[in-house]
Amino acid sequence: MKAKDIAELLDEPACEHNKKEKSGCAKPMPGASAGGCAFDGAQIALLPIADVAHIVHGPIACAGSSWDNRGTRSSGPQLYRIGMTTDLTEQDVIMGRGEKRLFHSIKQAVEQHNPAAVFVYNTCVPALVGDDVDAVCRAATEQWGTPVVPVDGAGFYGTKNLGNRIAGEAMVKHVIGTREPEPAPEPLIPGTKIHSVNLVGEYNIAGEFWHVLPLLDELGIRVLCTLSGDARFHEVQSMHRAEVNMMVCSKAMVNVARKLQDKYGTPWFEGSFYGISDTSQALRDFARFIDDPDLTQRTEALIEREEKKVRAALEPWRERLQGKRVLLYTGGVKSWSVVSALQDLGMVVVATGTKKSTEEDKARIRELMGEDTKMIEEGGAKELISIVHEYKADILIAGGRNLYTALKARIPFLDINQEREFGYAGYDGMLELVKQLAITIESPIWSAVRDPAPWDEMPSEAELLIAEGV
Ligand code: SF4
Repeated sequence: MKAKDIAELLDEPACEHNKKEKSGCAKPMPGASAGGCAFDGAQIALLPIADVAHIVHGPIACAGSSWDNRGTRSSGPQLYRIGMTTDLTEQDVIMGRGEKRLFHSIKQAVEQHNPAAVFVYNTCVPALVGDDVDAVCRAATEQWGTPVVPVDGAGFYGTKNLGNRIAGEAMVKHVIGTREPEPAPEPLIPGTKIHSVNLVGEYNIAGEFWHVLPLLDELGIRVLCTLSGDARFHEVQSMHRAEVNMMVCSKAMVNVARKLQDKYGTPWFEGSFYGISDTSQALRDFARFIDDPDLTQRTEALIEREEKKVRAALEPWRERLQGKRVLLYTGGVKSWSVVSALQDLGMVVVATGTKKSTEEDKARIRELMGEDTKMIEEGGAKELISIVHEYKADILIAGGRNLYTALKARIPFLDINQEREFGYAGYDGMLELVKQLAITIESPIWSAVRDPAPWDEMPSEAELLIAEGV
């Protein structure tokens, strides 16, 4: 990838960080790829496309870096879960065999798995050596008739965030618009119109999008493609036919939404399915952009019915969680939905992480949580533990990397990030969140590990002698 293409991706006009104090995406620093390089970001963004063979062109360690780490679920093909790599060695580099190995790997993937397409992820070593991945992909497409798509996101190009955009760029450039959608299904309610939409940046983590999909089906909103949770290659090809796109995660692949608007005139909005009010808002936004009065009216009726149902189901849990204090340490926009969802339950969010927040984000935090709220810029293990104690938090809600910090400090912990095992999206997801919060906080393990060990409570030898009057 040329330096000017990387600079263009970093300077994304639709990214809110471009306009604010922390402008643009972070510049890569030496060692900055710890926690995810551009390749990692690119593969994470596309790996959930389930019927594609994902080949990592590079040394074997790269393939281990990002395989399956998002816990995304497929309702059908499992091909995406097979880790494929060209496994480049020093000998291949010295002998200039990289391109040949790649060609043979594609052949093997096509012959053994008959995939809908093959995605080839470039990594640092072949990018430095100068393998012409584009040319190999073109030749392989011609040879076997299966689309072979290059995703040029070598790790040293930059951060994981840049990798997400590189992945999106590859879809816009090589895949979207290359096929028409399947015919629309019959609407569930006779006489209503089917409308087509896309979700960009929805990864179906722990299958959570399946909490939302039945609601969209009921409304006659057909999801052409979720880029990329539980997606199929042909769905990505037909994304250009949507009436509106919803950006589910604001940072990953915002360039896709913008470019689909520029190229095909598809409007987009940013939304979230975390929490009751945000889920309702997302449904309303679909109806608003589609602008079909019948859909708007049915959407309002559905929201009223679902909110009533979920609020009734939450009631017994609310009593158990009322007043419990939470330290929330998660970045990005989704923390908004989580804060309001927790407040909906009567919980108190005592502090929140703001490492990735803009000034605008911080203003929204104050609006939701009050002027005196504690904002955590740097959340190292020591810092987090001392804030939990200082603010008397009952639970730490954070990403998986803080799990052992919390457990060693005997603090109840709930994983909210991509590695989590439970889906929290939609109205039903809210119920799951509440259940997990209550189970975690009320677990008897906490009193057991916090109580002194029995042998610590036994009297010492001297105390025994004194007691005996010796
Ligand atoms: S692409 Fe580069 S930075 Fe990323 S895992 Fe491979 S060698 Fe490491």
